[in-house]
Amino acid sequence: MKTIETGAIIIGGGATGCGTFRDLTLRGVETVLIEQSDISSGTTGRNHGLLHSGARYAVNDLESAKECIAENRVLKIIARHCVEDTGGLFITLPEDDPDYHNRLIEHCKYAGIPCEEIKTREALKLEPNLNPNILAALRVPDGTIDPFRLCSANILDATERGAKVLTHTAVESMIIDGGAVRGVRCRDAASGEQIEVRGEVVINASGVWGQRLCSMAGIELLMFPSKGSMVIIDYRINNVVVNRCRVPSDGDIIVPGDTVSIIGTTSRKIDYSDIERLEVDDDEIDVLISDGEKLIPNVSKARILRAYCGVRPLVAVSGNVDGREISRGIVLVDHETRDGVGGFITIAGGKLMTYRLMAEWTADLAAKKLGVKKKCSTASTALPGSETRPRKPKIRRFTGIAKSVVGSTFYRHGSRVSSILERKKKNYGLVCECEMVTAGEVYYALRKLNVKNIVDLRRRTRIGMGPCQGELCSYRAAGLFAEFGAATPQKANRLLIDFLEERWKGIKPILWGDGLREMEFTYWIYQGLFGLGDIADDGEDEK
Ligand SMILES: Cc1cc2nc3c(=O)[nH]c(=O)nc-3n(C[C@H](O)[C@H](O)[C@H](O)COP(=O)(O)OP(=O)(O)OC[C@H]3O[C@@H](n4cnc5c(N)ncnc54)[C@H](O)[C@@H]3O)c2cc1C
Repeated sequence: MKTIETGAIIIGGGATGCGTFRDLTLRGVETVLIEQSDISSGTTGRNHGLLHSGARYAVNDLESAKECIAENRVLKIIARHCVEDTGGLFITLPEDDPDYHNRLIEHCKYAGIPCEEIKTREALKLEPNLNPNILAALRVPDGTIDPFRLCSANILDATERGAKVLTHTAVESMIIDGGAVRGVRCRDAASGEQIEVRGEVVINASGVWGQRLCSMAGIELLMFPSKGSMVIIDYRINNVVVNRCRVPSDGDIIVPGDTVSIIGTTSRKIDYSDIERLEVDDDEIDVLISDGEKLIPNVSKARILRAYCGVRPLVAVSGNVDGREISRGIVLVDHETRDGVGGFITIAGGKLMTYRLMAEWTADLAAKKLGVKKKCSTASTALPGSETRPRKPKIRRFTGIAKSVVGSTFYRHGSRVSSILERKKKNYGLVCECEMVTAGEVYYALRKLNVKNIVDLRRRTRIGMGPCQGELCSYRAAGLFAEFGAATPQKANRLLIDFLEERWKGIKPILWGDGLREMEFTYWIYQGLFGLGDIADDGEDEK
């Protein structure tokens, strides 16, 4: 069995784990991160990517609201290439309680969130697609944050500083010695190899799986999994985040992001045994579309691209409460003081946008256990891609390539654009027209961003996330896996099949109208033209 010795071990490659990984590495702690699937494949990759101003929590959860506005300001600087400063609106519709508008203004003041009452005319100018019947509007500093880019940049920074990441490697058991957790045993999914990773501190940042990981250490930690579903519209129907000004409920937000908009969300309590069997229900889609239309009437004419859901990693601090009423507060548990099990920490709850703060608290505790004095520096150290201030790339540096392609690459990778669009003609070839992803970007992702299959590649580059959902780009991407030596041609075919199966999961719940026609077309291409279903698995080993 392979053994790795390190200082700290982090279980979970969601935003919380990735942030802690970077934080500890910046403090000089030797760290290994272990993720059972891909980076940001858990709840972190299954939300709307709202960079909260905190206003959504101001009335019910002042503490979370304050954390959000503080982190909102930090992330707009250190993660600027992952953030879009879109601004946000809270709008009151004729059927809404008009008092909520005033309560929100008052509570935003307590939380220190800038909240400006604006005329409905001005709101419609800011967001022309808004429902014209709105009665009142408030402007807040909401924005959007791309969870995939954010995690990837945290991992990149840590690995460039020498830290180690194991993806597609699941922790199966804990090494317990003398009443303390001293490491983990995990398994690499591709090779089947078992690996023992030993360290002085083990950090459980596995989100909703936290309960399961705790039980491996003989500890009880109860989670309340609350499922939330969202639908994606095939273009940016809005450029400003639109929230409904009422007590948080289903279908009350539309968030723009990259080339699409996302309507969110629902909240349904689910059984813990179902956390890996998530499905979007028909009634959730109905409520999201019908309430989404109330915010932006054009929703009714738009094509729904896909539907997906995630589970809120809410920890049961006390009593059984509905997912939406429980605080989204951060839960940091030192199992040494709580359960008498040394060397083991759990971090859960919170939000994507408080990931850095959660990581800071966790790393402070881990550093204390390790006797490391160096303080947290993540609030002032920009992530790779966000180091420089310009919001636009210097187009003149890139000759022979369309401005829009340079712009898109810059949008996704910030100042790393120049290492992606190296001056090689081959790198300029477009692989994905929807998202303007070049062969150079695929090469960069394969080389630098821990990509093992086309689904991972989608998370790093947005290949297959645009309006055509991988119809034209995925087979080109599979070809590049083979061309760049990341897979044999046979394995590349299998990766393509896996990718299409994965995309299908999100398309299946919304199969009607144009979506159904598009899917039929995709089926004809892959099945009819390429005969993908007939490709025999020749049993070639996975090199
Ligand atoms: C519907 C919905 C909408 C949301 N919208 C927003 C929003 O707009 N803005 C916002 O700020 N927050 C939002 N959130 C909250 C946010 O998404 C989560 O709080 C956050 O992503 C949790 O990150 P995490 O790293 O703690 O957990 P996760 O992202 O779930 O990461 C845990 C990781 O641990 C891994 N893991 C589990 N078991 C093992 C094992 N045995 N071995 C190795 N790895 C393991 C998993 O594969 C997973 O990748 C939303 C949540 C939901 C559900």
